[in-house]
Amino acid sequence: MAKILIRNEWQESLSRRSRPVTNPSTLEKIDEVPEGNAEDVDHAVRAAREAQINWKMVTGLEKADLLHHVARKIREDRREIAKLLTLEAGKPLIESLDCVEWVAACFDYYAEIGRHERGSSLPPVGRHQVNFTIKEPYGVVACIVPFNFPLLLMSWKVAPAIAAGNCVVIKPPEVAPLSTLRLAKSFEDLPPGVINIVTGSGEEAGEALVRHPDVNMIAFTGSNNIGKRIMRLAADHIKKINLELGGIDPLIVFEDADLDVAVPGTAWARFLNAGQVCTSSKRIYVVEKVADEFIHRLVEHTKTLRVGNPIDPETDIGPMISEEQLKRVERQVAEGIKQGGKLLYGGKRVPGQNGWFYLPTVITDVQPDNLLFTEEVFGPVAAIARVKDAEEAIRLANDSPYGLGASIYTKSLETAMKAMEEIKAGSFWINDPLSDNDAGPFGGMRQSGLGRELGTEGLDAFRETKHVHLDYMMEKKDYWFPYKDRPIH
Ligand code: NAD
Repeated sequence: MAKILIRNEWQESLSRRSRPVTNPSTLEKIDEVPEGNAEDVDHAVRAAREAQINWKMVTGLEKADLLHHVARKIREDRREIAKLLTLEAGKPLIESLDCVEWVAACFDYYAEIGRHERGSSLPPVGRHQVNFTIKEPYGVVACIVPFNFPLLLMSWKVAPAIAAGNCVVIKPPEVAPLSTLRLAKSFEDLPPGVINIVTGSGEEAGEALVRHPDVNMIAFTGSNNIGKRIMRLAADHIKKINLELGGIDPLIVFEDADLDVAVPGTAWARFLNAGQVCTSSKRIYVVEKVADEFIHRLVEHTKTLRVGNPIDPETDIGPMISEEQLKRVERQVAEGIKQGGKLLYGGKRVPGQNGWFYLPTVITDVQPDNLLFTEEVFGPVAAIARVKDAEEAIRLANDSPYGLGASIYTKSLETAMKAMEEIKAGSFWINDPLSDNDAGPFGGMRQSGLGRELGTEGLDAFRETKHVHLDYMMEKKDYWFPYKDRPIH
């Protein structure tokens, strides 16, 4: 049975319970992991707290070396880690291999920028004074990760957090923790306690981490409801929080778009990872002039996608993560059709399959108040609305309380820049939806989150600024007491 990682040692959990991890394609049990409890969390937090005293003093160069070493070890084991990710999360093998490479690249990126700067020098307000800032780690960071990208979203937290001098406790998603535990072998040459892992449920292990008084910061990616709960709990200790939450992202196909590109691009942006991506294009707006052609071609393209066991290298779309998620999508699709959506393809489970497979689905005539546009549909469902023109498309794209990402297809610079200026979104993709860049900050506007990951912002998210004021001449100041000697002008 897999164990919990504390101080770089695989320890038996203090909880006697365990939880099975199931393959969503075959419904077979792969393994089981400890159902971590508050005591496990306390052990891990104490290990991180002790380790942080020395870790924050490690020089930038030494830290960079260690982070590059982690990246190298991840690459050495990439096939094994990717296979496990596919087995437990249902991600097509090719996507899992990509993910593992992105994780390694993220450790390389923060190895590089982690030693670049630690503050800045400021112009002083008086003579013989020096002012500067230093950026300090928060201390112990809880990294709480969702099921859809267990490794990648872990790396976006752990790599910058430790580069900034924090130590961490990771809480992997309960349904897909095995690839994180396997990848953790790449952490074994770090000083003990810098990275710790507690598996288990959100309600027990996750919440114990959020409530622990010695956790200084919570870096959370997941659903809005849990994000709100964490925000409330964090208020008790004014803990620092970074929240990466859900979204109902728009994708607009303008009338000048090249449909040979926009059609497969849209299908990828909506069906990638069985539609379980925070930035999936969940509201598709197509300008009337090209709508019939676009919809016809999208349906034909969707029919060609291979849904099946993700371990088969030719599979495009694997299963959804669980029956619970699948049933939710089934309910949403049924309700969306009742509310006027027109089903053109899919809308059902894949016949003859054991696992949680749902056909990629295309629904048109979706009105702005249809639940397919107002609730996050975390499954492979392309919901489409026809719009009159560019103006209406941009107005509707903004018609949401969320603001995670937005994508457009157009060849017009004017249209692209106008949409970019007007649409509220933390990421804006023009003619290439959903691609990430380690150097580009990622996060949500409006109710899609708080703070940013990746880029230099993603390093600053894990450190706080101290302003240092220094006067190199020790002298009495004429503005001190007594005021009676100070003339009033
Ligand atoms: P979730 O909120 O159910 O769970 C996320 C993590 O939080 C899991 O590890 C879970 O165990 C833990 N958790 C649950 N309850 C907790 C509690 N009370 N205290 C502490 N931790 C708790 O999310 P999910 O279903 O795993 O992921 C899907 C959601 O994540 C979607 O809404 C998606 O849009 C969002 N997401 C956002 C981003 C982003 O970067 N903005 C990326 C991926 C996913």
